[in-house]
Amino acid sequence: MLSKLAKLVERTTMSEQRLTPNAPLGAESWFGCGGTADILFQPDDIDDLSLFLKDTPPELPVTVIGGLANTIIRDGGVRGCVVRLGRPFSDIEVRGTRILAGAAALNGSVASAAAKAGIGGLEFLSGIPGTVGGAIRMNAGAYGREVKDALVAAFGLTRDGRSEALVTDDLKMSYRYCGAPEGMIFTAAAFEGVRENKDTVRARLREIKEKRRETQPITEKTGGSTFANPSAEELGAANLPADTRAWQLVEKVGGRGLAIGGAKISEKHCNFMINTGTATAADLEDLGEELISRVKNLCGITLHWEIRRIGERQKTQDAPKTPETTG
Ligand SMILES: Cc1cc2nc3c(=O)[nH]c(=O)nc-3n(C[C@H](O)[C@H](O)[C@H](O)COP(=O)(O)OP(=O)(O)OC[C@H]3O[C@@H](n4cnc5c(N)ncnc54)[C@H](O)[C@@H]3O)c2cc1C
Repeated sequence: MLSKLAKLVERTTMSEQRLTPNAPLGAESWFGCGGTADILFQPDDIDDLSLFLKDTPPELPVTVIGGLANTIIRDGGVRGCVVRLGRPFSDIEVRGTRILAGAAALNGSVASAAAKAGIGGLEFLSGIPGTVGGAIRMNAGAYGREVKDALVAAFGLTRDGRSEALVTDDLKMSYRYCGAPEGMIFTAAAFEGVRENKDTVRARLREIKEKRRETQPITEKTGGSTFANPSAEELGAANLPADTRAWQLVEKVGGRGLAIGGAKISEKHCNFMINTGTATAADLEDLGEELISRVKNLCGITLHWEIRRIGERQKTQDAPKTPETTG
């Protein structure tokens, strides 16, 4: 594997820094901690990406990232190659009530472009940090709408470099889930909205911004909701009310303000973990696992991570850190 990586790195000089060895991914994540990528590849365009995928041996692990707003990069780093789409994939084009966006376009920019063009129905994207590619993979959503409600089609490349166009039904999306094949790298998407008065749409954007500021720790180093809300079936099996939310379970087990090392559950919203400044990725992950275990023991239900965790844990000689209640 290392010799294959070395060959890739060799191409770096010929490819104007599109390949970066030991790229500091963790520092660039919203949590601001974690390890590096063995190799980071930032393609020039879709042909470049397709050639790269065709050229690289199928056993080379390839991981795609977006804005890292929903991802913990483990401290030991990510093996293989990480692909990040940049500026060449961030164009946004308005056609009637349809918005075509590159997968690296920010969700917020898509929402703003829609508002400017008098297109309603995409405001929910405005408060969801990250990119269109990440939003499709996560079927991201807020305030009663999610990506699947506005997406018409997604375009992408398979691990072997073939391009595919998928209509929304093909993606079998449900709550925070997208059934696109593993390894699919989305490159662009088409969203459909409805014609509306620009001021009405802009007013809704302002409302969302205000609501988020009041209820979420948006100025902290965080990754959004730590756990997905349990399904009605899971809640039923644990004899819990069908409208129980993940944050309520975290609260119930003493999660608000709970800390491990530099990782802490936000006092403002207890489904948000924050890096108080000194957290390692392991602190964050251990805090999440501590809560999963407490909720399982006390409430009889298993919380599922909404946050993605990639890479390897660092092998450490340190004694395990114990949880402490703060605040
Ligand atoms: C303050 C805050 C508030 C948040 N609020 C919400 C919210 O209200 N609703 C919500 O749903 N989420 C929320 N999130 C989480 C996050 O914003 C979303 O999950 C977002 O969609 C992540 O996008 P990203 O580009 O950062 O993806 P990343 O974190 O980089 O990746 C997430 C997943 O998407 C995959 N991915 C990324 N790009 C591509 C691509 N081009 N092709 C294929 N797969 C790809 C990655 O492999 C990974 O599995 C919040 C996060 C923060 C920090």
